[in-house]
Amino acid sequence: MLTLRPILSALRSIALISFTVGTTFLSASAFAEDVTASNPNPAKNVILIIGDGMDDHQITIARNYLKGAAGRLTLDDMPVRSSVAVLTVSEQAPDEYIYVADSACSGTSMSTGQATSRARIATTAKSDIDIETIVEMAHKSGFKTGIVSTSSVTDATPAVFASHIQYRFCENPEKMVTERFSCPQDLKANGGPGSISEQLAVSNVDVIFGGGMENFTPTVEGGSTSVLDSAIANGFTILKTKQDLNNVTTAGKVLGLFADKHLATKLRGEDGRIAEKPEPSLLNSVHWSLGEVDLPEPMTCETNPDAADTPSLLSMSSKAIELLSTDNDKGFFLMIESASIDKQSHARNPCGSIGELDQLDETVAYALKFADQHPGTLILVTADHAQAAQLVPESSMFSGLDIPVYSPGSMVRIITPEGGLMGVNYATNDFFAEEHTGAAVPLYANDVAIGKIDTYISQTDIFDIAKQHLGL
Ligand SMILES: [Zn+2]
Repeated sequence: MLTLRPILSALRSIALISFTVGTTFLSASAFAEDVTASNPNPAKNVILIIGDGMDDHQITIARNYLKGAAGRLTLDDMPVRSSVAVLTVSEQAPDEYIYVADSACSGTSMSTGQATSRARIATTAKSDIDIETIVEMAHKSGFKTGIVSTSSVTDATPAVFASHIQYRFCENPEKMVTERFSCPQDLKANGGPGSISEQLAVSNVDVIFGGGMENFTPTVEGGSTSVLDSAIANGFTILKTKQDLNNVTTAGKVLGLFADKHLATKLRGEDGRIAEKPEPSLLNSVHWSLGEVDLPEPMTCETNPDAADTPSLLSMSSKAIELLSTDNDKGFFLMIESASIDKQSHARNPCGSIGELDQLDETVAYALKFADQHPGTLILVTADHAQAAQLVPESSMFSGLDIPVYSPGSMVRIITPEGGLMGVNYATNDFFAEEHTGAAVPLYANDVAIGKIDTYISQTDIFDIAKQHLGL
């Protein structure tokens, strides 16, 4: 499993000097070393940035569009790169593995260090025991904590860091018992902690930013006031708009809910287009080698007008870092999620995913700058699971054979800013939503982690790495 190799500071310096990365990073690291020398006990911070569904296909598609095929994302210049196994166990037989995760179980691996079954929020498979999260442990040890997401804050990835429930869809008191799912043992009436929003409202998390207001307007179970009122009674200042976010300076707990559901994505397909099915001619239905096929017309990505009033991931994250680091000698743990890389891949909308990855990359750049000035800061960037999108030839490599070869799924042919044509394909099913896939995911880290992370680790090791850095 993980080998956290202790390294001498001299060795670390050599690694920093000899590492072949961009000049910006080298000079910034040298600066960090200087700061360390003048302050031997800096605050210890962990910033864990999760791109939901951000596998290497998603990263490559986004790089091609945003920077060009030979260009580089901020991610590409980070000094540590590892590959992470995504472990999921069976609900019925927790000693058996299954091979494709959801965000609930994969997030739980990172937040608690224990693999669980799909749809579980920081609880064990089958036995349904609550597992303490890194956010709860950090708070108990005196660290400040924060959760930022472009999804509803009750969605699986943010939820696994500060709540415990059998089923991820039990997001508010009205969703605890439905026809399709229920969380009976988590009902307050049965001695449980209530829904995800009710748990977040009474949590000790210092900063919670994202969407999901609709999960805070229902009445708390067994009470007469809303979940939002419960959060206010528990000391949270509530933010609702971009302006609220810009203006907040409070030292107390802050809950920012900037949309009813998930936050709007930065980009969308031209005129709202998503992937479309290739259209074979009638003759092709007679025999696969006959007739011809019309592929979807090429398109560009465009700014999503729905996002005009939506705070960016960067603005939420930079405010969270400001609030968590001000007057704080101990340090903090902050989880930041770019959620809709996944959601837009489910929706076969590659431009949506590209915009979300762009938001993640600019947030990573900000976090790295913060770490340069606060050298006790460990930055980890990873994904929770792989997704459906594939980067494919924009027209078949077999098209020269003069037979109509085309994807059985849906595809987009994106005109890139560098003037190329990029094919993105979705073919996990014919349902209205694509599915996750099971490949290992990438992990990137800043210079603090050099020599401390093996080439191939498990998601549960990410919990150990963060825990060890904070000394929990
Ligand atoms: Zn998903």
